[in-house]
Amino acid sequence: FNIPIAVNEPVKSYAPGTPERNAVLEAYKAMFNSKIDVPLYINGKNITTGNTRTMSPPHDHQHVVGTYHLADQKHIDDAIVTALEARKTWSQIPWEQRAGIFLKAAELIAGPYRAKINAATMIAQSKTIHQAEIDAACELIDFLRFNVQFMADIYMEQPESTSDAWNRVEYRPLEGFTYAVTPFNFTAIAGNLPACMALMGNVVVWKPSDSQVYSAKVIMDVFEEAGVPPGVINVVFGDPVMITNTVMASPDFSGLHFTGSTFVFKELWKQIGNNIHNYKTYPRIVGETGGKDFIVAHKSANPKQVATVISRGAFEFQGQKCSAASRAYIAKSIWNEVKDFLAEDVKSFKMGSPEDMSNFITAVIHEGSFDKLANYIDQAKSDTDVEVLIGGNYDKSKGYFIEPTVLVTTNPKYTTMCTELFGPVITIYVYEDDAYPETLKLVDNTSEYALTGAILAKDRYAITEATEALQNSAGNFYINDKPTGAVVGQQPFGGARASGTNDKAGSAQNLLRWVSPRLIKETF
Ligand code: GLU
Repeated sequence: FNIPIAVNEPVKSYAPGTPERNAVLEAYKAMFNSKIDVPLYINGKNITTGNTRTMSPPHDHQHVVGTYHLADQKHIDDAIVTALEARKTWSQIPWEQRAGIFLKAAELIAGPYRAKINAATMIAQSKTIHQAEIDAACELIDFLRFNVQFMADIYMEQPESTSDAWNRVEYRPLEGFTYAVTPFNFTAIAGNLPACMALMGNVVVWKPSDSQVYSAKVIMDVFEEAGVPPGVINVVFGDPVMITNTVMASPDFSGLHFTGSTFVFKELWKQIGNNIHNYKTYPRIVGETGGKDFIVAHKSANPKQVATVISRGAFEFQGQKCSAASRAYIAKSIWNEVKDFLAEDVKSFKMGSPEDMSNFITAVIHEGSFDKLANYIDQAKSDTDVEVLIGGNYDKSKGYFIEPTVLVTTNPKYTTMCTELFGPVITIYVYEDDAYPETLKLVDNTSEYALTGAILAKDRYAITEATEALQNSAGNFYINDKPTGAVVGQQPFGGARASGTNDKAGSAQNLLRWVSPRLIKETF
């Protein structure tokens, strides 16, 4: 196929004096004080419902940046009807036409919308400019560009034919409509989930996270400007239970593309199961959920590298990544050195609001998350089998700030070694050098999750042993690197076990879930 070759969008520096820094600061100021009102978006129209909720940045929770409208059941019904109507034309147009729209969306974000989508992500989700740039700009652009390439790869996959039988496959969109449920922690994921389904010819009801409304609005503005026709992607906010119940009661519901908590994903899966007799097709279910991502450092690892991998893997993005390192197993003979480097590293991380661009980490997403993290830290302060090595302070007077915190435990099954916290807290267990094989077993059986993990070692036999022993423990496995920061087109991303269906984000495998192929055999 003749399509533009997908390339990764270069990450801009935002160094003092650069035009991008000035542009994003200006956008941030304007948006911070704008009092935006975000409507629902159904059938290409902005719908206000009169039932609104306010939005505040997590780093400044008393400041109101705007309001957003909440749907009632009738709006969800409208979104479904409208999507099904739009499907009649959207599913029939040539794939190049759909590709053109999403390639344009990528270029709009790379250019005119870059400052805006970054600023919205900094405000709504409390990301530093560097975090926003990597997520809302570059990763979303990459998803949109590479998806088109993956789509072409899929369409090109055709069966053998003979001189008297011509076999061909048509990659038809799913019959009915699809449902995207997206998380607060990545603007890129929020944009990618509905985009994947729409690109393959599907129509979508999209429910963004309540903590991500501002950037969802910018994404939808981009999609609209790029030419996504009315009804193809409909955005609804509001009570998640009501929205899901309404969507899943429809016989035309045909697919769920989800990123969020394991608990919610399992509930949705159950609900689909309960409704299975009502559906015209078996709904596709794709989910990326929690993680309890590990770092294992062998005695042959470089202590400075181990420290960097821990501090970056655990604390970048405030630890609010499904992939964030949250448990580490360090060989005793290198621990003292690792500890010193780690303390030095973490001391250099400045914490504060995103508008101060020298800050390395900012606030966690909301009070619920803050309280949960604070409770785990308090518990660790009083438990005898764990100590707070670094950090351990928190303050929610202005924003939800949790200091990067390192716990060290003598109990490899201590609560915070097993439970996902989704914040800037990592727990370390120091093992005897000789207990490496047992430690690998422990890594495998300590958590229900299998999203990401990393082995750090110089010794190739140790690397081989870990690669074998941990083959089911992580969907993305990193050798001598941090377990975060997958790049679209390079490391397709997703986990198994309780972490999800492992239909890698950023892959043809994911897009394949959104088609229902028709094989046509013609004889002569
Ligand atoms: N893809 C991201 C990474 O590799 C994580 C996405 C997530 O948190 O869901 O770090």
